[in-house]
Amino acid sequence: MHGKVALEEHFAIDETLQDSAGFSPEADWPELKARLLDIQDRRLREMDSHGIEVMLLSLNAPAVQAIPDQNKASEISRRANDFLAEQIQRQPKRFGGLAALPMQSPDLAARELERCVGELGFCGALVNGFSQIGGNESGIYYDLNAYWPFWAEVERLDVPFYLHPRNPLPKDAAIYEGHRWLMGPTWAFGQETAVHALRLMGSGLFDAYPRLNIIIGHMGEGLPYSMWRIDNHNKWMREQNRYPAKRMIADYFRENFYITTSGNFRTQTLIDAMLEIGADRILFSTDWPFENIDHASDWFDAAPIAEGDRHKIGRDNARALFKLDQTVK
Ligand code: MN
Repeated sequence: MHGKVALEEHFAIDETLQDSAGFSPEADWPELKARLLDIQDRRLREMDSHGIEVMLLSLNAPAVQAIPDQNKASEISRRANDFLAEQIQRQPKRFGGLAALPMQSPDLAARELERCVGELGFCGALVNGFSQIGGNESGIYYDLNAYWPFWAEVERLDVPFYLHPRNPLPKDAAIYEGHRWLMGPTWAFGQETAVHALRLMGSGLFDAYPRLNIIIGHMGEGLPYSMWRIDNHNKWMREQNRYPAKRMIADYFRENFYITTSGNFRTQTLIDAMLEIGADRILFSTDWPFENIDHASDWFDAAPIAEGDRHKIGRDNARALFKLDQTVK
């Protein structure tokens, strides 16, 4: 399919490059490093040869979210966002920007998002899970009340917020001890991000700000497959678990969330997601440079789904959600 839009697509700057080193065996690091630092060359060629018209670019992970000092986090965010804006200016029809945000401070994050959208022309934000604040052992999740003014600003600016994975902190990773292979994309990324997304849904955030649009990758981090059970467990019991939100969790999932195909190129999984959240809320993505563009595109282009759905997922949903006719010209 030609004209695809892909939106979980990463790059690195010198200051954040090493954050990605742990996610590849040493033998593959030179290749991954070259892919992360390239924007204008091989990336564009890969896009051209696999029918990707537009990439929305975002910083690698965990990057800003793993900087415990909020001023330093803010400085690195600005540096990455300014660099990205320059790169987009060189290919404004092919690239768009998702802002890195210093979520260590809800106020600084809101101001940086406003700057990125208003001054740099970015079309959303991508944040790498919880943020470390003050030290290396405290992770803060964004359902907390301190973040609600930030979310009010996201709603006011009317831009999507991509909640991207990171690994749990060592203190929260005891379950993986002795099984390091479960960290990262194998399992820990999805579990960490799914819990964060559920915290947002159960907190009542979407009752207060019903126009928020949150995106999660990797075909929904397992949530579509679990959605019925989350709302219907032990149905005969009179006292269900209670949470502050007013509605069923699935209601928020279907009305405030989008999912992408990043790093999860499996037709069976896509069809489950289509049945659960609907083809209108699924967006094509690759997860370059951690996954291959050809793996994502060759699978998606040939997946046995209706052509109408392929065009929605491959292009039309993203163009509408990010208002790409206004931002990527
Ligand atoms: Mn990614």
